[in-house]
Parts: sequence; structure tokens; C-alpha cells
Amino acid sequence: MRRRSFLLGWFPFFHRPKIELSGIPFRVIYHDRGSHRYLVIHGDEDTARDVMTKYMSDHKGVAYIVTGKQREVVIRAVKVDPNRLFSRAGAEFSIRGLNTDIDVERLIEVLDYLDDERGKLLHHLLPPRDGRLFALHNNRDYSVQDELAASNRTSIKQPALPRNFFLCTDPRDYETLQQSPYNVVLQTDPEPDDGSLSRLCARRGIRYINLECAIGEYDAQMERVQWLDQHLP
Ligand SMILES: [Zn+2]
Repeated sequence: MRRRSFLLGWFPFFHRPKIELSGIPFRVIYHDRGSHRYLVIHGDEDTARDVMTKYMSDHKGVAYIVTGKQREVVIRAVKVDPNRLFSRAGAEFSIRGLNTDIDVERLIEVLDYLDDERGKLLHHLLPPRDGRLFALHNNRDYSVQDELAASNRTSIKQPALPRNFFLCTDPRDYETLQQSPYNVVLQTDPEPDDGSLSRLCARRGIRYINLECAIGEYDAQMERVQWLDQHLP
């Protein structure tokens, strides 16, 4: 592992190396790479960052945690939601919305850059075949209610806590998660392609689980992370 780390240029920062993917700086945490991958992609979701950092101190897998503090990232002087750049169409929609006066040349240049970099980004974030990808998010004005219509199956055991819920792309993971006392939705449809990681994973048949919790609810988020850890292989 150390040799591989050295070859990747991570050697001096073995425990907490940094890496830039698609122009976005991430901190990487792992002590045993294992098969599972973990992600915090929105910089303003401090609770998710804190839970992930604590969890990774004694679990296998590789966690990528965005180092910026804003929700949007700036790539080549253009603002974009980092969870919308997993497809060209999604990135374009996000960039147009966040940079209303952008000219077409600049837009194409950024989209081409993101196309070029996407393979490397996915090489890092996507798990090997026997693994899963687990992303942590926090919300301020969003809840499972917003996802019900787009979901194949839903299990709402905590209707009074709609902001705390799992979203997964694999029916087998849903079968396990819906046995939990928590809110869970399954989304297997890759369309409409909004450029998010969940749509990409649905398209590629990758086990992806997203845990949303209200910002600030550290204990609630950690409790759900631990439930998943103990029940989902
Ligand atoms: Zn988020």
C-alpha cells in the first residue's frame, strides 16, 4: 500500500493526503483501502464532514472529503455544483444556472475540461466491483418528500423526520435498508440525467447509498452511518 501511495504521489501525506480531481481539492482519508468508497462532496455540509472524518478513523475504505467550505466549487473561474458534473448535460445545466452571463466559448472550454477529467474522477470515487459508494449530505430546505415521486420504492418509518433519509440505487441494498427504523428510498432510474452521482451509479449498476441528514444533527447522522456499517456488507 505504501508503495502504491508513493507511486500516486501521496507518500508524504500517508494518513491524510490531498488530491485534486476535476479541479476540486479533496482530502483523502484511509488506513486500509478496502473495497468501499466514501464521499462528502458539498463543502458547506459540516456535519457530514465531521461524521465522515470520525467514522474513517477506525474503518476500512477510502474517503474523499471536499476541502472547500462552499456548496459550489469554482473550476476555471466558473461556478458549478460538484454533484452535477458527473455528466456533460448535468454540468452544463448547473453552470448555466450559476453563471448566468457566461459566454459560450468559456462554457464549452469548461465542459470539455470536465469531460477530460471525468475518467480520473470516477477512477477514484467509484468502488471496485465488490464495494459500494456511500455519500453523506446535509440539507437545509430539502427532504425525502422531494424524492418520493422519483423513487421506485419507499419506506418512510420516520415521517416526522423527513430530512433524514437514505437514498440507494441497488434493490438489494434497499431490501436491507428498509429493515432499518429509518426513511429509505430506492432510485434505479438513470433518467433524467441531472449529472448527479446517484444517476451515474444507477446507470452503471454501481451500489450507491446517499445519506441525507438535517445540518447540525451529528448524532442522528452517525447513528445511521453505524447502522449501515453493521448491516450492509
Ligand atoms: Zn450535499
